[in-house]
Amino acid sequence: MDLRKRTWAEISLDNIEHNYRRIRSLIPEGCRFLGVVKADAYGHGAVQVSRRLEAAGADYLAVSCLDEAAELRGAGIGLPILILGHTPREYVRELIDLDLTQTVTCEAKAVEYSEECVKLGKTLRIHIKVDTGMSRLGFLCAGGYFEQGIGNIISACRQKNLEYEGIYTHFAVSDEPGEEAERFTRGQFELFCRVIDALGKKGISFRLRHCANSGAVVNYPETALDMVRPGILLYGFGDGGRLGLRPCMRLMTHVSTIKYIDEGLPVSYGGTFVTSRRTRMGVIPIGYADGLLRSLSNNCSFITERGPAPQRGRICMDMCMIDLTDLTEVNLDSLIEIFGERQSAEELAARAGTISYELLCSVSKRVPRVYAG
Ligand SMILES: *Cc1c(COP(=O)(O)O)cnc(C)c1O
Repeated sequence: MDLRKRTWAEISLDNIEHNYRRIRSLIPEGCRFLGVVKADAYGHGAVQVSRRLEAAGADYLAVSCLDEAAELRGAGIGLPILILGHTPREYVRELIDLDLTQTVTCEAKAVEYSEECVKLGKTLRIHIKVDTGMSRLGFLCAGGYFEQGIGNIISACRQKNLEYEGIYTHFAVSDEPGEEAERFTRGQFELFCRVIDALGKKGISFRLRHCANSGAVVNYPETALDMVRPGILLYGFGDGGRLGLRPCMRLMTHVSTIKYIDEGLPVSYGGTFVTSRRTRMGVIPIGYADGLLRSLSNNCSFITERGPAPQRGRICMDMCMIDLTDLTEVNLDSLIEIFGERQSAEELAARAGTISYELLCSVSKRVPRVYAG
């Protein structure tokens, strides 16, 4: 262990590749694979993850914004990259120079992008986003909006200097159990297919039709179309354990201080924990500024070589306390796993009332990523 690294995240790129191959084996031959690497690849390091996906044979990447895409291009990633969010028209030149694909979510934005492209004398590659029930981004096409939605998409695609390569939608509840979620997801897919059909009849067709996020890859394989778009599956979660995916991040720290505290003493800010016995207390150098959610205070354990050590008192910005009274063999410099192999990020997230996604992408910039295999 390098002790300058007070706390670190071990990332296994081999496990990323394993997960990639597992997902690949589920989707039809010829179906393309877009790896979602937004938010620094869910905290795993977008450049390293993208390099591995590129080498393994992925077809496309997606990020949320121009800066994330520029980072990948700067690192020499050559795969096509789709920007899922909005880019202001002022940056159209950069989109084109970096050979990026921009999502278009309404007619007005298509017009703006087209005007900029015409000024530059260049063409921008776009994917049309359809809102089929997520009520977030995209051309509204549900119910009474169908005809108008189709008209607006056609108008967007016909703007000068836009190359409409793809069309996509996003599922809201494809990862939720139950009949209602299933009905909703099937309704979204059916509407998406009707939109594509109606556009085809008007002479507008797309090379890349895609909608399957992780939930749909697992639960609705028939939605794969031309390309799948998983994120969390790549990082080892979201399959309910069914696919043999492997977690790719192990968040580690070590015991930096041990002291004995008498019975009846309050611990940490607010005194929310009071010792019920003379306690051998360990201080570990990880806090909420590292991404350890403060809402886990007094409600979790971290894993020592000798078993779980209960966390005590409020989690501070840079450190927190663990009870080592019953773990006498755990000493200074002993390794502590916050999550990863022996405690899953999903379990810990559930304790905090959140999901693995949030725990993974909360691991902050201060925590060095250490890449092993
Ligand atoms: C984040 C995102 C995904 C990936 O979602 P997962 O649930 O991680 O698979 C796919 N598509 C869009 C549009 C997204 O924003």
